[in-house]
Amino acid sequence: VIKERFIKAKQPAISNDGVEFKILANVSSPKEAKLAFVNGAEGIGLYRTEFLFMNRESAPSEEEQYSVYKQLCENMKGLPITIRTLDIGGDKHIPYMGIGEENNPFLGLRGIRYCLQNIPLFKTQLRALCRISAAYQIKIMYPMVGIVEEVLSANKILREVQNDLKKQNIPFDKNMQVGIMVEVPSVLFLIPQLAKEINFLSIGTNDLTQYLLALDRENTNVSKYFSALHPAVLSAVQTVIKLAKENNLEVSLCGELARNQNATKLLSRIGLRNFSMSSPAIPDIKEVIRNLSINKDTMNSSVNEYFTTLGDVKSSFSS
Ligand code: PEP
Ligand code: MG
Repeated sequence: VIKERFIKAKQPAISNDGVEFKILANVSSPKEAKLAFVNGAEGIGLYRTEFLFMNRESAPSEEEQYSVYKQLCENMKGLPITIRTLDIGGDKHIPYMGIGEENNPFLGLRGIRYCLQNIPLFKTQLRALCRISAAYQIKIMYPMVGIVEEVLSANKILREVQNDLKKQNIPFDKNMQVGIMVEVPSVLFLIPQLAKEINFLSIGTNDLTQYLLALDRENTNVSKYFSALHPAVLSAVQTVIKLAKENNLEVSLCGELARNQNATKLLSRIGLRNFSMSSPAIPDIKEVIRNLSINKDTMNSSVNEYFTTLGDVKSSFSS
């Protein structure tokens, strides 16, 4: 039975009526990538590099990072891999990072904000990633972007790193794709401006829900309100998908919502084709997709129809 499950997991996610989907994995280590591969992941949509920086006394060196990223790529046997640059702060506290006490860590120095204030550390990571890009198909992704200037600065630093490598005759892929997490609500209004600077968007519904609904994702006092199926969150997701299409950006979704089978049905109807989730969910989500019939003009389906579907999803989610 287990063997059959894995054979099935490897089958592609193509709907009944021939629409192709990409089902990717969220991982936190090279070891988890092995599990992703056997579960039929068609790549890694989110590698959370912060775990490489946790539970130690100082930041990992360039060589150490290089060997971990290489192991990750090897474990995925050449499939495409999206590596998120350090997303520290918020819930993930690392003493040696020197962030100090903050009243509202989720609204504080985290993600790309931290990296842009700690450029040597950021450059070390980018350098390791660029070196990996010479041999493997990787994309890099900036977390917690909230303003256009952050992307301009991060890309400028990336180009500096690439110029240094070039001078040293160290190979890298100069066409490596760069993207951002969509998880700070302000980005919803910035996509056309950002489109010139990046290649892809990845919707992080965990933080997008937290920031859009003003709900601490970790606070059990309010967890009953916390749902990525809130109409405002789903409307935001729909907006991002539409703007991505209009601006020629690839789009995927990597929050917890991606492994909700009802959400798969709804999101497929509003045009989403790339999902990234924790590995154990992959075989079942692929199966759900194989049983779907996609209305060919989903992007044009009326708002009414969309909210009717939403109603179904909401009731089946809460029961
Ligand atoms: C998210 O915010 O939705 C996300 C995928 O990233 P993380 O859970 O690591 O914050
Ligand atoms: Mg996040």
